[in-house]
Amino acid sequence: MSASHLQCIRCSAEHELKDRYLCTRCGGILEVKHDYAGQKAQMMAEIQALISPNIWKYRNLLPVQNSENFVTLYEGGTPLIRSENLSAKIGFGNLYLKDESRNPSGAFKDRPVAVGVSKAKELARDTVTTASSGNAAASLATYAARACLKCYVFVPENTPSEKVTQARVNGGNLIKVKGNYSNAYAMARAAAREFQWMNITTTFLNPYALEGDKTIAYELFHQLDKSVPDWILVPTGAGPLLFGIYKGFLELSILGLADKSPKMVAVQAEGCAPIVSAFESGQGKVQAWGTPSTLASAIADPLKGYEQDGELVLKIVKESNGKAVSVSDAEIVESVFELAENEGVYSEPAAATPIAALKKLRKNGTMDESDTVVCIITGHGLKDTRSVAKTTSPPVIEPNLEALLDIVR
Ligand SMILES: *Cc1c(COP(=O)(O)O)cnc(C)c1O
Repeated sequence: MSASHLQCIRCSAEHELKDRYLCTRCGGILEVKHDYAGQKAQMMAEIQALISPNIWKYRNLLPVQNSENFVTLYEGGTPLIRSENLSAKIGFGNLYLKDESRNPSGAFKDRPVAVGVSKAKELARDTVTTASSGNAAASLATYAARACLKCYVFVPENTPSEKVTQARVNGGNLIKVKGNYSNAYAMARAAAREFQWMNITTTFLNPYALEGDKTIAYELFHQLDKSVPDWILVPTGAGPLLFGIYKGFLELSILGLADKSPKMVAVQAEGCAPIVSAFESGQGKVQAWGTPSTLASAIADPLKGYEQDGELVLKIVKESNGKAVSVSDAEIVESVFELAENEGVYSEPAAATPIAALKKLRKNGTMDESDTVVCIITGHGLKDTRSVAKTTSPPVIEPNLEALLDIVR
């Protein structure tokens, strides 16, 4: 650290680097001062290494030909956060959180959508559409705005208002469809056919979009110092995210860089778990789920009419020697709080499901303390604030210390 002391901007008094706020001599503003000797070489190296992250770094393995068509808001390059506190509580030595909430629109969907929209540009399409449980709608509106494309998004009627607002403020024509996600899916498909819109629905429908999800694997490999984690837990709706991450690791093997594949865990909510249900019954067939009932709306996908999506995910889970696990809404809410209170990572309900699954798999001995485990934290807590709110109101006090004493004591 080059920081040497604090200095008052007004009277120039110097202070130690302790928890001080204003100058103790004159009340002036304090500034951190540095000793710059010997810092030049290090700084030069860091400036050269500091390139704003985006998925197009991996352009050679993404399906858009001409770099003029790349649409980017610097998606990807998200941090891999080593769990400091939760890991000890659950009993893991190497637990990591891939924080996808840091993407431009607050969810991992920016990776597939950036690729899908770039492809739409390359194919000279003027209008894009998607079905969405909310995040893909917000993301598509964001990237369509950037690319100057018209955008129609279809969401279930009960989509969290934050995601609806986000899509609309970004200029998306948002349409609510009665019923669950599968109805929105059918509408986007029918409308795309009828009006020749490019359908970027982030299930397995659009093959290009899914390629964006692969970049998570490349980043993990880099962030884990060129190694492959033992387990990756993925909140799963239709499952292209899980598939994409697995595909990315397979590619790293094909290229001779990685020497194994991770075991993939598909995590679903008990109130909508068509893939887990098939996994548990030992069947290869996936049945569409009737009516979803869960507050993890981002993964409430009944797969009605596209059951093959679930079957593909099931196949990959098995091929990787992984698992499919469902968790209850109560466990999901608990996990949102645990992540936030223990690590400072605020996630939406669906994004916290890996934590709930992790506890089960550690308890029943599936996972070992020494395993390297990565949870994909898919979306930000501000995306859906109502499902997980504190049940009590904060205190309101008179502006004096006596009033505060009652609380602090
Ligand atoms: C879309 C989404 C998922 C599920 O992704 P799939 O690729 O459909 O399985 C998980 N979490 C969040 C927050 C999402 O928005």
